[in-house]
Amino acid sequence: MHIKKQRLLTPGPTPLLPSALHAMMGSDIHHRTEDFRNLYKQVLADLKAVLGTANEVLVLVSSGSGGLEAATQNFFSPGDEVLVCSAGKFGERWVEIMKAWGMKATVLTAPYGDAVSPQAVEQALAQNPSIKGVFVQASETSTGTQHDVKAMGAAVKKTNAIFVVDAITGIGTMPLDIDGWGLDIVVGGSQKAFMIPPGLAFLSISPKAWALADSAKSPRFYFDLKKERKNAQSGESAWTPNTALLLALAEALKYIKALGMDKLVENAQLLARATREAVEALGLQVFSSSPGSSVTAVRPPAGMDSGVIIKEFRNRFNAIITNGQGSMKGQIFRFAHLGFFDFHDLFAVIAELEIILAAHGHPVRFGSGVAAVQNVYADVALPKETLAVS
Ligand SMILES: *Cc1c(COP(=O)(O)O)cnc(C)c1O
Repeated sequence: MHIKKQRLLTPGPTPLLPSALHAMMGSDIHHRTEDFRNLYKQVLADLKAVLGTANEVLVLVSSGSGGLEAATQNFFSPGDEVLVCSAGKFGERWVEIMKAWGMKATVLTAPYGDAVSPQAVEQALAQNPSIKGVFVQASETSTGTQHDVKAMGAAVKKTNAIFVVDAITGIGTMPLDIDGWGLDIVVGGSQKAFMIPPGLAFLSISPKAWALADSAKSPRFYFDLKKERKNAQSGESAWTPNTALLLALAEALKYIKALGMDKLVENAQLLARATREAVEALGLQVFSSSPGSSVTAVRPPAGMDSGVIIKEFRNRFNAIITNGQGSMKGQIFRFAHLGFFDFHDLFAVIAELEIILAAHGHPVRFGSGVAAVQNVYADVALPKETLAVS
């Protein structure tokens, strides 16, 4: 017998920051009080600070998809022409949202594992000047692929269209210069790099986007961003907020501010790089041709269903990792890096992967994947830490 602690290693929900988890116990407060208004104002100000934007930031009580829907219904009207970049399950979600709100979407599709090119966006915008919005995932979580939102933003900036970025797993895993790159609406979610449970969505909204909101005719009631904006100015939310999650978020933001957003991004990038090197050392392939740092999607050995690896992680080590989604199910398995992950987690995950592969007849020299992670650590993390203390 041996103990198997449960470990949540998925790209959302992600491992929780202990101080944020503990803060949730203070949720016996009322939301129309001075105490709450101080908390809410602090959260909105800190969100702005960690996102590094001068744009207005709002919080909604919903999972990330509610933020995506709000970013659609508040700025557009039925029949509006829009451009959607779709490179996986979440790109397909944008397409479904456009359909639900009666918008006319031109879809630029990249095969799973590839990214839509900024040149394709620029061309599509040049061909159709009536496009009012461009939609993309900064990080397509389903395939572990990153989009070049900087170059896309430069193309959108030159037009009247607004750039709407699902950065739900992009925030905290890649540099995002929201104001400099013209990312008009950026959507985030609590259960990703923010290290708290699911249930909050965030949106940053540029003046260019607010101007478009004035003529938007899609119906709205609960997700009315103008109403939220008005209430936020006095430190309140339009409806009863999720007090527990806001307390958690306040703690998480304190942590991220102390660490530095750039360091949080660097952490994810380092873990992603070490993961890629480890799986390659084990003779496996990274799935994406444009891999990001939120999650690394890996192809299983030829002839093996990735579901077997996921099940083995759960049964042998009580570790929860994720399969591919939709048609990618069985084709890939995914290791997350966003938020509260560290080298300690990764050493264990790769050691466990080696055991699982060996148990299924894949030739493995124990320690070869782990050594790849150690080399990245020694290469990058160690010298930096030495510098920091000297
Ligand atoms: C997690 C995620 C979402 C939001 O999904 P919810 O289940 O609604 O929180 C949206 N886009 C991407 C890229 C995601 O990773």
